[in-house]
Amino acid sequence: MTRRPGRHFLNIPGPTNVPDRILRAIDRAVIDHRGAEFGQLALGLLGEIKKVFKTKGPVVIFPSSGTGAWEAALVNTLSPGDTVLMYEVGQFAMLWVDMAEKLGLKVDLIASDWRTGVNADKIEERLRADKTHAIKAVCMVHNETATGITSSVAAVRKAMDRARHPALLMVDTISSLASIDYRHDEWGVDVAIGGSQKGLMLPPGISFNAIGERALEASKTACLPRAYWDWQAMLEPNKSGFFPYTPATNLLYGLDEAIKMLFEEGLDNVFARHEHLAEATRRAVQAWGLENQCVNPAEYSATITAIRVPEGHDADELRRVIFDKFDMSLGTGLSKLKGKVFRIGHLGDFNDLMLAGTLSGVEMGLALAGVPFQRGGVDAALDYLANGDAALAAARPKRVARA
Ligand SMILES: *Cc1c(COP(=O)(O)O)cnc(C)c1O
Repeated sequence: MTRRPGRHFLNIPGPTNVPDRILRAIDRAVIDHRGAEFGQLALGLLGEIKKVFKTKGPVVIFPSSGTGAWEAALVNTLSPGDTVLMYEVGQFAMLWVDMAEKLGLKVDLIASDWRTGVNADKIEERLRADKTHAIKAVCMVHNETATGITSSVAAVRKAMDRARHPALLMVDTISSLASIDYRHDEWGVDVAIGGSQKGLMLPPGISFNAIGERALEASKTACLPRAYWDWQAMLEPNKSGFFPYTPATNLLYGLDEAIKMLFEEGLDNVFARHEHLAEATRRAVQAWGLENQCVNPAEYSATITAIRVPEGHDADELRRVIFDKFDMSLGTGLSKLKGKVFRIGHLGDFNDLMLAGTLSGVEMGLALAGVPFQRGGVDAALDYLANGDAALAAARPKRVARA
């Protein structure tokens, strides 16, 4: 491969750009993970990460991808043959369904069209019909990365309460945490699943479970086999800042820096920045005359926009042209959306001019790849980036995800 000068544009919806401050924080000598220095680092981190999840309860950190934390959530709280209620919002939700089935759980799936989010009324209906309380957990993806759809966790919690159903609520926050507001305790979530490589701006390699009291209680009697993912084995040594096996030491240095950066900016400012970048992106999409995969404006994702290409055109060919010509990576269409959508990740360490460059690459790419579109998307986005916030505040539909 010949050298490609300048920065690669990494605009997939995770892994995201790792800021220099975090790269420098990681670039340190590895220390003894059983020594006092490590214990201090981890004790601090295990406290600080709770603020990101907005919980007072424990958060455990696994050396794994987000998929591992999905597994940990299920195997710590459930038993073979238990039923879990899941909702088809897109490919990540379906991968979690697949995992639950492989683990010997029964999945009650609410099917959907991959264009709208979780309908809390449907959850309520299923729970009310479940007189024997066979359903032990409701699992939802807060922000579906395959489709760019954010569902309301608060609405699902309320639906569960209305149905007076005791199932646990498990929420995948992998592509929302630290970029879209998430409130673990306030929303009564029992287990949250997080990953390092999206809003947290870290390289891939660590994952999280935020654990509520009811989930911890359930873990005492749950009997799916578990070993590596066992919360108890993790929580005991965590009390003094240690781990049952070798943690991802250097990524934890990075996490420490990431949390500092998030609080220097202020979480509310981080969320507002993501909404601002997402709105500018959508204005470009609209001006191009292209269609957003998400059809409900109240559920537009602040971290990722999935854009449909017109019938007869291949989104992957467009992505190839853009990569070859402009050194930019965009997200591919996953599973049944293959070739039909491309996804712009606008999350993590990302700002106005990075987005302007991204959208310029897309607009030039659309022309080069022969996809029918109207020019003017970049102009619409720039106009919004320069002047838009005040107008937006007045006109914006109330986002359900923030309720
Ligand atoms: C990225 C992602 C995952 C998968 O995480 P891995 O780290 O690839 O295992 C799961 N759910 C959502 C919503 C994601 O965005």
